[in-house]
Amino acid sequence: MSFIYNQPLKSLNTFGIEAKATRFAVFGSVATLVDLLKQATPETILILGGGSNLLFTKDFEGTVLKNEITGITLEKETTDHYFLKAGAGEVWHKLVMHCVAHNYQGIENLALIPGCVGAAPMQNIGAYGVELKDIFHELEAVEISTGRLHVFDLKACAFGYRESAFKNELKNKFIITSVTLRLNKKPVYNTSYGNIAAQLEADETGELSMRAIANAVIAIRSSKLPDPEKIGNAGSFFKNPEIGLEQFSELKKVYPNIVGHETGSSKMKVAAGWLIEQAGWKGKTFDNYGVHKNQALVLVNYGGASGKDILELSQKIIVSIRSQFNIELVREVNIY
Ligand code: FAD
Ligand code: NAP
Repeated sequence: MSFIYNQPLKSLNTFGIEAKATRFAVFGSVATLVDLLKQATPETILILGGGSNLLFTKDFEGTVLKNEITGITLEKETTDHYFLKAGAGEVWHKLVMHCVAHNYQGIENLALIPGCVGAAPMQNIGAYGVELKDIFHELEAVEISTGRLHVFDLKACAFGYRESAFKNELKNKFIITSVTLRLNKKPVYNTSYGNIAAQLEADETGELSMRAIANAVIAIRSSKLPDPEKIGNAGSFFKNPEIGLEQFSELKKVYPNIVGHETGSSKMKVAAGWLIEQAGWKGKTFDNYGVHKNQALVLVNYGGASGKDILELSQKIIVSIRSQFNIELVREVNIY
């Protein structure tokens, strides 16, 4: 397996940022990956899935390895569950639609999230009241320093809100090669979140099913979010911050419409999009980049912007939210 040198990355990241990788290769199996690792410097490896959760601010001076391990296999069935194993290079939405087609239930609220299966555990992807952890069984990952394959169960992944061990203590140490999901035989639908119920009512069939929920999520997402094929973006740029109940009630006196949801840890998760909109950033455009007009959490590249421009804009937003609300926004997008 040989490397490509000075590989352009523009078509490999959904922000559409121009950058180059010093060395680049694609792997379609664990064996090829292990072989490539022997030829690369461990400290300067970037694993690329769909490139939908990262921002290049400069050329990547190292080795970019693109994961193309495919395959979806039903590993086993129990009375209540299906255990489905997917290669880390599978497209996430394709996996969701595979489950919908076979009635492997629990994943349907996560329809239309861009990217690959292998990146899903990185930030415990979540949407519409469901997170990966809710349907996760285990994953396999190759240790970069040894080339050995390890298995991580739910506990070992230490999933949190848009967090996992792989973003923290295990950062840059493992490459995820497969993910096994545990899906329901007896459906437990989750339709309480946002406007899913309203969207379902608009569904002419009137039935409650995995497909109806997936269709509702797809319809809502398509109406609200910019399509990266048309406008460069990486989804939500920031995480929703969690603040104490006391701080939230103080803010509520000044901003009666502030959007917050209580979390299990007696904290309030504040909608970062609402904060950014209140601070006047929604729809702001600077040359060829800015804040999306419909969703203030999404920073966009209208074409030709640099990663540095977008990073600087995100920093200005962080400072502005700190000064107006005394809340610290944290970037969700991975910066390179
Ligand atoms: P990449 O961007 O390629 O990689 C992201 C990070 O993970 C990088 O640090 C990379 O090195 C690392 N990585 C990737 N694959 C592996 C691997 N196999 N092993 C080890 N490390 C790896 N996210 C949500 O959680 N919920 C949403 O609803 C959501 N909606 C989005 C909507 C839009 C329009 C967009 C553009 C993005 C959205 N995202 C959402 C963010 C993004 O789609 C997810 O985080 C997705 O899981 C990223 O997958 P990817 O393959 O593109 O990862
Ligand atoms: P929304 O429905 O307008 O809601 C705004 C925020 O309030 C969301 O961020 C959500 O937090 C929170 N929220 C809403 N209803 C909630 C409830 N019943 N319980 C707890 N929290 C609630 O959000 P949106 O921007 O259109 O996104 C819809 C869903 O898709 C959200 O889950 C969002 O996370 C996900 N999404 C994620 C990305 C990304 O890149 N990460 C991009 C687009 C959409 P949560 O974000 O914690 O759910």
